[in-house]
Amino acid sequence: MQKQSLLLLDDLAQLVLACADCGTEITFGVQRGLPEANPTQKLSAMPGECPVCFHAFDASVREGAEALLRTIKSLYDADSASRIIFRLKPEVET
Ligand SMILES: [Zn+2]
Repeated sequence: MQKQSLLLLDDLAQLVLACADCGTEITFGVQRGLPEANPTQKLSAMPGECPVCFHAFDASVREGAEALLRTIKSLYDADSASRIIFRLKPEVET
């Protein structure tokens, strides 16, 4: 039997960018579109590298995360987030 799950854009709180090398997670509040992980550090854009091990983030990951944040924030700003719903891949119950 298949169980279907939905993800409401309206329910999203954070986007987490994980370093492929050391696993450090950088957290962004999706409604603010700005970094939250380190409030004392003024980052105006997506960091190019991991703040811990300095491993460079893949450009596609960085650009994708930035585009997602921008898109999600604009939907929140337009009060349209509640109208976007993701349907997750069905889970097969065993
Ligand atoms: Zn790292």
